[in-house]
Amino acid sequence: MSECNETGIITLKPIGIIRSDFQALDNVPIGGGTSQIEIFPEYKDGLLRIEKNSHLWIQMWFHKAPRDVLKVVPGKVNSNLPEYGVFGLRAFGRPNPIALSLVRLEQVKDNLLWVSGLDAINETPVLDIKPYYEQEIVFSPDTPYIRPLKREMRQQIFMKQALLHHQEKCDQLLLGVRMALIADDYFGQLNSRELKLTVNGSPCLADVLQGLSNARLANPPRFRYNKTHELQQSIWEKDGSSLIITVKQPITDDNFFNTDDQQLFIIDFKE
Ligand SMILES: [Zn+2]
Repeated sequence: MSECNETGIITLKPIGIIRSDFQALDNVPIGGGTSQIEIFPEYKDGLLRIEKNSHLWIQMWFHKAPRDVLKVVPGKVNSNLPEYGVFGLRAFGRPNPIALSLVRLEQVKDNLLWVSGLDAINETPVLDIKPYYEQEIVFSPDTPYIRPLKREMRQQIFMKQALLHHQEKCDQLLLGVRMALIADDYFGQLNSRELKLTVNGSPCLADVLQGLSNARLANPPRFRYNKTHELQQSIWEKDGSSLIITVKQPITDDNFFNTDDQQLFIIDFKE
């Protein structure tokens, strides 16, 4: 329900509200969390058969975000970066603080949706819900690299990206994220058209690394894969330099965050 009067003012009526443990935007993790979306009773019929979708776009109104900004330094990510216009960023502050979040639908009961991956605080008004259609995926678009200063934040972003692509948190996913972090240290932007990737190992590792590098088999050819049980290895090549990352020991949930790169991998870089 919206209307536009002669002065160009649009009126929107929220269809629901977010119920979450997060009370402030600074506390919301990059991968989002598990939240509940309460749809107001008069809009409940709009949920008919929504459970057929695994993923949804949630449009919300970030009622606490500033509305008087047009250019910002994405300082939460990296304060050394230049300014960007807000229409080329996902920053909270913008003239109309409409937020867009891709979530996984976990459960539906009556007028309540349980979702994971939502990056919104408690009591955020919900404006609309739309299905995520795979026909609309652009697998490797050109994007600026807004590189987080902290490796920990890069790791969180890679984890989210890997899970969305691979859809299971297996050991090989953890391995792929660790390899991608090392490749990012040496080469930066992993979806660069100039960066080529060869994976020798399991299909899971290849799938995760393809998702993280957005390397396609052709146009331009950036990705090669050799299935083997003998080793787990990724080879990254750009501008005549090569980086070979080979697994030394199996990775588990316990040592994922705490073990040094050098203990897990043999890292061989040639300029
Ligand atoms: Zn897997």
